[in-house]
Amino acid sequence: MIFNQIFNAINIGLVILDRDLKVQKWNRWMEIHSGISEDKIVGSSLLETFPNLNKPKFKRSCKSVFSFGNFCFFSQKLHHYLFPFKSTSYFEPIFEYMQQSCAMGPLRDENNVIQNLFIYIQDVTEVAVYEHKLVEMNMKDGLTGIFNRRYMEIKLKEEFKRCKRYGGNISIIMFDIDHFKKVNDAYGHQCGDFILKSVSARISSVIRNVDCLFRYGGEEFCCMLPETKLDGALQAAERFRKAIMEMESYFNGTIVKVTVSLGVAGLNESIETSEMFLKKADEALYRAKREGRNRALAMS
Ligand code: GH3
Ligand code: MG
Ligand code: MG
Repeated sequence: MIFNQIFNAINIGLVILDRDLKVQKWNRWMEIHSGISEDKIVGSSLLETFPNLNKPKFKRSCKSVFSFGNFCFFSQKLHHYLFPFKSTSYFEPIFEYMQQSCAMGPLRDENNVIQNLFIYIQDVTEVAVYEHKLVEMNMKDGLTGIFNRRYMEIKLKEEFKRCKRYGGNISIIMFDIDHFKKVNDAYGHQCGDFILKSVSARISSVIRNVDCLFRYGGEEFCCMLPETKLDGALQAAERFRKAIMEMESYFNGTIVKVTVSLGVAGLNESIETSEMFLKKADEALYRAKREGRNRALAMS
């Protein structure tokens, strides 16, 4: 009687199955989240009611609980969920389904024979959302939503090592908004921020899926182009330059136009570190600035 009350009051899902994987008990939590009452589901096959569980791995896990009496864990990180319940998270809907951390284990009778199996389901959506957001915040720039410099350093090192070890091409484009200080001075910092977002969005729309765009610093950006040689990257840089030159941003009824200068570097044997690689692109960028801005130049 007391156990029954706890079984139904507890804030986790509890299911008890028999050896044919038919539901024997289904607590209140399961009723609420599945919309299926205990008297409806008791006696029916769990796998028929939830076809997503009708997979070799889940069935093997159940079998091993009955055969060996061991416990199985289903982590949210690997499986996301066992039971496809709609997420009730108050946060932004990052996950369509409730994220679950689950486990199953044996239940023995008075003769120590395993007759039943229990599954518990814990709703870990809130934790998973926080984790997702922390990872995002760690790698993305708050203003523009593109990747940040911290992530760039990690990603560039990774790709650089991969190309050095296995061969392959990679190029980078560093670019900087021309006379950006004047935009802030003439129209205010809010307008400057708006331009930074517009430039990021415009470039994001013209790069390939495999390319990565990073905010390197204030009004400086870096684009990493895997599997691209220097001449291909120079063409891409020229495309970026034209796209920004032709862009018209409306801020409080005023059209604001900017240009960018770009420096391009392609990986070759003489470049020994990712820092040196970045420096090559930076040098080309500063040459582009010196030679009059609104241009794309390759490393010498
Ligand atoms: P150049 O053509 O030589 O690059 O000239 P510039 O004016 O763009 O370069 P400078 O380095 O003199 O100025 C960069 C300006 O960018 C100054 C700084 O206030 C502004 N800036 C940097 N980060 C942000 C930001 O997040 N928001 C806004 N609104 N402005 C920023
Ligand atoms: Mg600038
Ligand atoms: Mg700058």
